[in-house]
Amino acid sequence: MLRAYKYAILPTEEQKQQLAKFFGSCRFVYNLGLETKLQAWTSARKHLTCIDLANQMKELKDTEAEWLQECPSQTLQMSLRNLDNAYTNFFRGGGFPKFKSKHHKQSIQFPQGVKTDFESGTIFLPKLKNVTCIFHRQFKGDIKTVTVSRTTTGKYFVSILVENQKQLPKKKPVRQKTTVGIDMGVKTFATLSDGTFFENPKHLRCNLKRLRVEQRKLSRRFKRGAKEQSKSYQKQKLIVAKLHEHIKNQREDYLHKASINIIRSFDTICLEDLNIKGMMQNEKLALAIGEVGWYKFKTMLEYKADWYGKNIQYIGRFEPSSKLCSHCGHIFKELSLKDRSWTCQSCGTTHDRDCNAANNIKNFGLRFKPATVNVSH
Ligand SMILES: [Zn+2]
Repeated sequence: MLRAYKYAILPTEEQKQQLAKFFGSCRFVYNLGLETKLQAWTSARKHLTCIDLANQMKELKDTEAEWLQECPSQTLQMSLRNLDNAYTNFFRGGGFPKFKSKHHKQSIQFPQGVKTDFESGTIFLPKLKNVTCIFHRQFKGDIKTVTVSRTTTGKYFVSILVENQKQLPKKKPVRQKTTVGIDMGVKTFATLSDGTFFENPKHLRCNLKRLRVEQRKLSRRFKRGAKEQSKSYQKQKLIVAKLHEHIKNQREDYLHKASINIIRSFDTICLEDLNIKGMMQNEKLALAIGEVGWYKFKTMLEYKADWYGKNIQYIGRFEPSSKLCSHCGHIFKELSLKDRSWTCQSCGTTHDRDCNAANNIKNFGLRFKPATVNVSH
């Protein structure tokens, strides 16, 4: 199976300059490729392939853009391949490929030629040679693709994709006892059918408030039409970038802890298959979803389930989940959004709104298991 390992690297000043050139060259090739593709399509309805673009790049390297030769050619080719993937993604319903900006996070990929030396704490990268790397953990296996990135706050990382030749563990049987349903919400991040819940961390909310204040400050310092922004603007920009980074780390840390906790405690996890992309188009909801990180959380649950042989069961988007009594099946039509708890008129059970929804999700997940899997109690 493939696993990714991420480490901080500490390039020398000289290596930083080299990297800046590589980032620039790859950005150039990507953006030019995107523009060429767009033009070919609008003017002649022609689809340019990755090979067309690679040939064009070869020509450029020999003529006008000789400086591209300083960058490893496989790294340049990887950015064309990424462009291709971005297009494929778009045709599958993703966003349209965007032009890359030098103001955002930078990244390049090395498909081969990378070696790690855990003992000396260095990683060998084509043309850059040995770069100091902080290996907080070791890995065994074949190195596949290696991505080097620089954050907007000037930190450098390397992410190594490793094939470790291990088989994924066999999936555990589906049993009612070891199954959990999860109701995801904006106020309470996740409520489980057994009654536990994961609150959105408070410190995260405080920092989000602070971020809004700092961002407002930044936009006040922005001078429209100015060739170069003031020093105080640049300073504020770094403050905002650092705060962004801090919040992202805090959130990821929280999501990692919550997801591993759930994966370890249960064998089958039932979730609503919310159309997150569709919901993201609604601006207000998108902000809330983006803030709580549902999408990332689901991704984490999925890959961790694979690692531990656990099952993820999606149920369709399902309207009356909070109005349906998970105990007797009675539907309480009068339930309004602000009712946090309610008592079933039919069987008399008092429900917490979210916990009841989580129980319904669990029941549905167990009912709609594929026929090949036996549900035992
Ligand atoms: Zn009931």
